[in-house]
Amino acid sequence: MVKMSQVKIPVKTILDTMPGQNSRHGTITKKEKELILQAASKSLGIPEDEVRNFVVKKKSLDARKKGNQENNIYYIYHVEFNCNNEQKLVRRYGKNDVAFIPDKENGKYAKNILLCGNNTRKDRHHVLVAGFGPAGLFAALVLARAGFNPVIIERGQNVRERKKTVSRFWEGGELNPECNVQFGEGGAGTFSDGKLNTLIKDKDGLNHMVLNTLAEFGAPSEILYLQKPHIGTDRLADVVESMRNEIIKLGGIIYFNTKLTNIIYEDGCIKGVKISKISDNGICGEEQEIKCTHLVLAIGHSARDTFYSLHGRGLYIEPKAFAIGVRVEHPQDIIGYSQYGELYKKLPAADYKLTCKTKDGRGIYSFCMCPGGYVVNASSEPGRLAVNGMSNYARNGRNANSAIVVTVSPEDFGGRGALAGIEFQRKWEEEAYRQSGGKIPVQLFGDFCNNIKSTGFGEIMPDMKGGYMLANTRAALPGLVGNLVEEGIKNFGKKIKGYSREDVLVSGIESRTSSPVRINRDKDFQANIHGIYPCGEGAGYAGGITSAAADGIRVALAVINS
Ligand SMILES: Cc1cc2nc3c(=O)[nH]c(=O)nc-3n(C[C@H](O)[C@H](O)[C@H](O)COP(=O)(O)OP(=O)(O)OC[C@H]3O[C@@H](n4cnc5c(N)ncnc54)[C@H](O)[C@@H]3O)c2cc1C
Repeated sequence: MVKMSQVKIPVKTILDTMPGQNSRHGTITKKEKELILQAASKSLGIPEDEVRNFVVKKKSLDARKKGNQENNIYYIYHVEFNCNNEQKLVRRYGKNDVAFIPDKENGKYAKNILLCGNNTRKDRHHVLVAGFGPAGLFAALVLARAGFNPVIIERGQNVRERKKTVSRFWEGGELNPECNVQFGEGGAGTFSDGKLNTLIKDKDGLNHMVLNTLAEFGAPSEILYLQKPHIGTDRLADVVESMRNEIIKLGGIIYFNTKLTNIIYEDGCIKGVKISKISDNGICGEEQEIKCTHLVLAIGHSARDTFYSLHGRGLYIEPKAFAIGVRVEHPQDIIGYSQYGELYKKLPAADYKLTCKTKDGRGIYSFCMCPGGYVVNASSEPGRLAVNGMSNYARNGRNANSAIVVTVSPEDFGGRGALAGIEFQRKWEEEAYRQSGGKIPVQLFGDFCNNIKSTGFGEIMPDMKGGYMLANTRAALPGLVGNLVEEGIKNFGKKIKGYSREDVLVSGIESRTSSPVRINRDKDFQANIHGIYPCGEGAGYAGGITSAAADGIRVALAVINS
């Protein structure tokens, strides 16, 4: 095959082919595909009708050199196709954005998964998966497809019930500590922007397998080729439900409102777990036991009570660095205009990625940016408050929001021991809760710089899920973090016009950026207790939906081949 990675077409040319059509999702239209084929064959000097099996593998937007010229914004396409004399053509073209690639064979993991079906071990393995977030979901699907009839326990409710429980909380109801933005079917990612891009290299084809699987279960098809694919909260719930139904159809058993409370092991080998049934209002029932030979521990970064009980029971856990900070809100128009000029009204909601080194050499960066999204109350423990961000598929909210965070490491936690990071998070989440009586504390950036409570809004109004209150968000941050956030936002104001305006909104705290612990695993993916497979973000082996799902596949294969 011939691979071309830099087929460039001015955005205006593409937009002109779809007058009035919705170009905000980046979906490739029939007309657009014709233009890409035209551009590719023209730059190689071959007739269009000689091109066969033409596929668009990647589509990205490049506005880096836009200056004030809208014509300087391009869509960049990566395409693959067959034609005559491929190697001779590539040699003649002689540039490195065109290459000859042997016809692809399935990635290593894809082949392994296909082979799993006739695995004889399935009769001896009693596999339990704890946690039904992306990691647990994909692990369970691979195990079910291999005929291992996994048993899955999830402390939260199924996704439909969970949405109601979370909405009730956001509308002022009580927090359910067992079912909230962090806990429940689909995991933390269900109430998210559903961004699927990951920085983790896809050397074994797992990220692509995750995207293919999500598309197979109903995610929008453009996730397979967009540089920055996203699903949106509203579409993610349906995808999760379809995957769950497939797992059940293949023999998997799922217990919602069922929490892993402890482990049972002998001679260093897992024998079973203790579980507790959860009532609808989040009360834990009596402990029961479930036997298992393999435990996939995919409990996410917020399962603090479970980390305590498992650590207390002898599971080796160590502290891990994570990031902490605030979430800022800007009018989406400011971001759109800054990134794409006037064209922003016709293009997908603009995002940004900002980073800088502060005077004292520490890094501050934007994280989990949600274009056209909402700031959400993402708390999971009574009396403690954490925020995060989410968007729907349309990304048509009036504000853009993003976390602005600093990495903190065990030296910063001020405590000792494996779980010191959790206590550090809890301390500042309690401060955030105190600042505004359990509502989301919101402060104007000008007041943030003066460390004073805000008393009124400027032009920008919050767009949030969950009650909010004007407060002194800075008081809910460690002093150093407050200083670095101020310095960072001022620095970013030089990169995006209006980014550090006095009336920009700062809410907090953003503390659940990744896991504060790591549950070590060996080369066979097993913990210090044999048969336990730490998996996903909570175990410290992933960050984000796609990498957590990919880790779920990796771990499931380790269980299947153990
Ligand atoms: C609001 C929000 C927005 C986000 N936006 C994005 C985004 O746009 N893109 C992105 O890539 N990432 C995003 N993330 C991060 C992403 O959600 C996580 O990285 C990902 O979900 C981690 O997957 P996981 O399966 O490892 O853990 P989780 O998704 O945290 O799932 C763990 C599951 O285990 C369950 N559990 C915990 N303890 C127990 C127990 N004791 N017994 C039984 N079950 C238990 C929990 O209820 C949960 O369902 C967002 C996170 C949040 C909170």
